[in-house]
Amino acid sequence: MPYGNYFKVPGCGNTLLVGDAAGLADPFLGEGIYYAHRSAELAARAVIAGFTRPGQALAFYRESFRRCLLPEMRYAWAGRQVVFALPPRLYYPFLVLFLRLAPKIAEQTIQGRRSFRWFRLKTPCPR
Ligand SMILES: Cc1cc2nc3c(=O)[nH]c(=O)nc-3n(C[C@H](O)[C@H](O)[C@H](O)COP(=O)(O)OP(=O)(O)OC[C@H]3O[C@@H](n4cnc5c(N)ncnc54)[C@H](O)[C@@H]3O)c2cc1C
Repeated sequence: MPYGNYFKVPGCGNTLLVGDAAGLADPFLGEGIYYAHRSAELAARAVIAGFTRPGQALAFYRESFRRCLLPEMRYAWAGRQVVFALPPRLYYPFLVLFLRLAPKIAEQTIQGRRSFRWFRLKTPCPR
């Protein structure tokens, strides 16, 4: 599981990396399905946008990747540093309590509808 080992540049040349190949499971919970779908969507859009400009797809993808996905990885990573710095006897009950008190917020965050940045509802990311 790529816990925080995400790429800053998601590809090389004509190769675009998505999902786990780009290291996109969130570093806090290890959830990667949303990021696999979202990165694939962004990569597909970049390929379409670069269709008449060979070699540009990665540049387009890199830009949307940087704006839409990297911030989430960074905030999830920061959350991980805080919570998992606690001893296991504390962080496990903390996570259980959070999931019991705010299951909807947890669900929406895993599904990409809320940000790891203070669990705010997301504004649409530029496509
Ligand atoms: C045990 C476990 C539990 C998880 N639970 C969750 C969860 O509850 N929620 C969540 O959001 N995420 C979860 N994840 C993470 C999530 O599964 C991944 O982040 C997500 O599946 C990544 O999607 P992907 O398309 O990038 O890669 P994958 O789903 O791994 O798809 C890659 C595909 O490529 C195929 N492949 C590999 N090499 C080749 C090749 N050379 N030629 C052709 N095909 C190839 C593989 O067989 C595979 O089918 C879990 C991961 C694990 C390991």
